[in-house]
Amino acid sequence: MTTETAHTIELTVPGLYCVECSQCVESALKRVPGVEQVRILGTSEKVQLTYLSEKTGPEELLHVLERAGHPAKPVRASHGPVASSGAAAPGKETTGEPGADGPVPFSALRELHFETLRLAFIALVALIALVEIAGESLGLLRGVEELIPAPVAMAAVLLGGYPIFRAAYFGLRSRQINTALVMSVGALAAVVIGDFIAAALIVFFVSVGNYLESLTTGRSRRAIEGIVEFLRTTARVKRAGGEKTVDAEQLVEGDIVVVRPGERLPVDGTVLSGHASVNQAPITGESIPVEKEHGDTAYAGSINELGYLEIRTERIGENTTLGQIIQLVEEAEAHKAPVQRFADRFSAIFLPLVLAIAGLTLLLSHHLVAAIAVLVAACPCAVGLATPLSVVASVGAGARRGLLVKGGLALEALAKVNTLVVDKTGTLTNGRPQVTDILAFAETDAIDVLRLAAALEHYSEHPLATAVLQAASQRDISFPEARDFSALPGRGVTGEIEGNLVTLGTRRLLAEQGVWLTAPQEEQVAALESDGKTVLLLACNQTVVGALAAADTLRTEAKAALDQVRSLGIQRIILLTGDNDRVATAIARLAGITEVRANQLPEDKIALVRQLQQERCRVAFVGDGVNDAPALTQADVGIAMGASGTGVALEAADVALMRDDWMQVPEAIRMGRRTYTTIRQNIGFGIAFNVLVIGLAALGFIGPVIAAASQSVPDVAVALNAARLLRPATSGRSTRARGAGAPDAQDHTSILDTGA
Ligand code: ADP
Ligand code: MG
Repeated sequence: MTTETAHTIELTVPGLYCVECSQCVESALKRVPGVEQVRILGTSEKVQLTYLSEKTGPEELLHVLERAGHPAKPVRASHGPVASSGAAAPGKETTGEPGADGPVPFSALRELHFETLRLAFIALVALIALVEIAGESLGLLRGVEELIPAPVAMAAVLLGGYPIFRAAYFGLRSRQINTALVMSVGALAAVVIGDFIAAALIVFFVSVGNYLESLTTGRSRRAIEGIVEFLRTTARVKRAGGEKTVDAEQLVEGDIVVVRPGERLPVDGTVLSGHASVNQAPITGESIPVEKEHGDTAYAGSINELGYLEIRTERIGENTTLGQIIQLVEEAEAHKAPVQRFADRFSAIFLPLVLAIAGLTLLLSHHLVAAIAVLVAACPCAVGLATPLSVVASVGAGARRGLLVKGGLALEALAKVNTLVVDKTGTLTNGRPQVTDILAFAETDAIDVLRLAAALEHYSEHPLATAVLQAASQRDISFPEARDFSALPGRGVTGEIEGNLVTLGTRRLLAEQGVWLTAPQEEQVAALESDGKTVLLLACNQTVVGALAAADTLRTEAKAALDQVRSLGIQRIILLTGDNDRVATAIARLAGITEVRANQLPEDKIALVRQLQQERCRVAFVGDGVNDAPALTQADVGIAMGASGTGVALEAADVALMRDDWMQVPEAIRMGRRTYTTIRQNIGFGIAFNVLVIGLAALGFIGPVIAAASQSVPDVAVALNAARLLRPATSGRSTRARGAGAPDAQDHTSILDTGA
């Protein structure tokens, strides 16, 4: 058996924003043997293809697109198996693609001139015709044919309609009824009855509609291109012989880059030396600069406003956090919202229906003009564009505020959420607990307790581990080596220290090993827990020898944010934690949460989410994304807090909050609802408008020219309505007292504004 390797390739296909074109491209590609997956990113005019290299290759795929009437060119190809695409592929393969930039070829220039002349000509003819029609109806002018001779009008039809006829031809060739075909039939029918002026005007208005469509989608595309430039910068790298300027794409992990004031950071990495105020608005949405010094993580795309930094390169290009954000925004519409399926189905039956209505009109009224009007009134594109335009606007606007939403699917799910499940440690609390009390039982003393605990936690990455280690280092306690260490998620840690079996964690963990607290010990521990402190029990060789209490603080803005969530009508808020009941209840009270589920192991958390879903709850789970990944995935919407820098969170979550700000939780829900409402308005309006105009045309109330002219109305309306989503909904009814510690994001280095 030959081992088949899947490759991915990304192609740019101009004009792909049009829903029909994307459907045509998709079906053409899917018919090619060896093509495994086709993802259409209409707004970015890109196709992502996965194919088996044994069966097909880029040449064939490009050829197929050419034949389908959609010539394409490659953006970037990532060679090698897709399975390993997550592991940082060295940057080499992403450089030097043909066709991406470079000088405009001469033929393209010629094409451009031809385009301009063509459009100018048809526009001129249309203008004269319109002036005349207006003049005639006011009784000022007479005889349209006198000003525009028939051959000129005919030329305008042919020249102006060329792209439409061409698209119709390609549609027919792949046995598809597309809008272009319906328009062509309309225009040609007008020619057949000898009304060249009407035919020219139809062609003109259809072109205007197409142009408006490309405009509306072009805006967000250009915006993303602007951000991509952030990653295509040069970097000053420290090499043996001193500093050298190289392309950021050529850096490798471990390279030390130097960043001066006013420069944009070229890579993600750790600060080795220096100190600077860095504006990381493109990543987190917060415009207030953040101080960076030794040991801090810094992100590509952020700007060094003041100071000097030396950064150890960890990720470059598309693997950086900003690279992932860009990718997420670009791919937003590939995660289709369920409402879009409705729009897609509509588009599929709409055109045959229009043809039928036109035929029926002709049959019943014997008016060819009315039938033509019906044909050219049809405009399903607005319905198709309703969802992608809204989704891209929302996702883009969210991204520039540090609120990342994975596409239409997540937005629609957010809109429907009615239950919020909240994880405690690191989510509701700051996740930076401090050791407050140390209990030592039996002969052990407090130093020993801390020593053994630190020895185990040395290997753990849990926030509680950090607290223990910090407490040990504050007291200058050195600790021995632990062997056979194991971390038991949601329970604690165990290992062998100096020949003793040592365990640190919950009651449950100790009980699993047959170790129980005595009544007086239980009393002491319970007292600490009632204060909301997490108590870690320490057992050595089957005896409880001590305990450490750690206090974590509620995030300042959490309560206000939860109040907002409640005011959005989400009444059921559940606190979920692996910690015990007493601690959970104490924290829940502070946050104003009444429903608490304590002692939950990671698998219990998933089970609870699942159970809620069976009770028909639409569950949003808010977690920290690192150890809550399974629950984040299970929930209808997984919201990861403080996700910047953790690639995991972006993968598991549907919504990632790039900074630790609870206020973004209600904001995300509002965003989902607004988007969903906008999509439904757009689809509703698009359909209603089509029905109205087609109805009027069939009944002879409006003629072909008016019908064609009305085509642009829904396109513009849908685009304007979607554009409202670019602005955050902070005004009006939902404005309440904003929580502390939630700086308002300013727009100035924003994803969608830059470069647009
Ligand atoms: P949460 O559900 O609040 O996020 P976890 O599921 O991470 O908490 O952990 C639940 C409980 O398990 C903690 O309250 C603690 O008692 C115990 N635990 C987990 N990890 C550790 C560890 N590394 N050291 C000690 N105790 C731990
Ligand atoms: Mg947790």
